[in-house]
Amino acid sequence: MIQFARLVNTQFTSNTYILSKEDEKAVWLVDPGDIQPVWQWMQAHGKSEVLGVLLTHGHFDHLYGINKVLEEYPQCSIYVANEYGKSLLFDARKNNSYYAPIEDIVVSSAADVRLYNNSLALWPNVTLKVLFTPGHSEDSVCLQVDNLLFTGDTLIHNLRTVTKLRGGDTLKLKDSIEILRTLLGQGLHVCPGHNEEFELDGYDLRKAINAKAPVKDL
Ligand SMILES: [Zn+2]
Repeated sequence: MIQFARLVNTQFTSNTYILSKEDEKAVWLVDPGDIQPVWQWMQAHGKSEVLGVLLTHGHFDHLYGINKVLEEYPQCSIYVANEYGKSLLFDARKNNSYYAPIEDIVVSSAADVRLYNNSLALWPNVTLKVLFTPGHSEDSVCLQVDNLLFTGDTLIHNLRTVTKLRGGDTLKLKDSIEILRTLLGQGLHVCPGHNEEFELDGYDLRKAINAKAPVKDL
């Protein structure tokens, strides 16, 4: 059984998740931001390696910790949706850090960046399912493992999904929300890119695309 921890990043309120397995020393990181809390968590839980980074999309608030991960674990792989998502890692304007009150975020050119297939083996007998869900950005994915669904900025509790940033597309988002609709009834626990976790079953997915629903610049 997979375990996960949610760490709320101080600077931009994005969520970083640590995926772990009881009998494994190595973890996976979803959307790394503040890195000290990650190292502290790993030390406290007897984890000693990062196998890789799983990105939900390439906006800076979901990846600004990558270079620090690579300093400690240069071998680890960074997974992104597509070539467009890859390009965001190396371009501060495209990942929006250029426009934010922080230094430009540009991932080390030495990073081993890979594109997701439809599935990825995280550990023996544990497979991540990748759902390509463009709309918030062209490279947005939702990641499912066991009963967990990591949605990044594609689905955030009670908020309309932002589509106005570069690479955003309202029509594609509608299609992507329909993909998520097919997951209803499976008891999935949503781990979003911002704010609180929630249960997918019973959630009104129309909020993600309803023009009258509240929206935050995330
Ligand atoms: Zn985003």
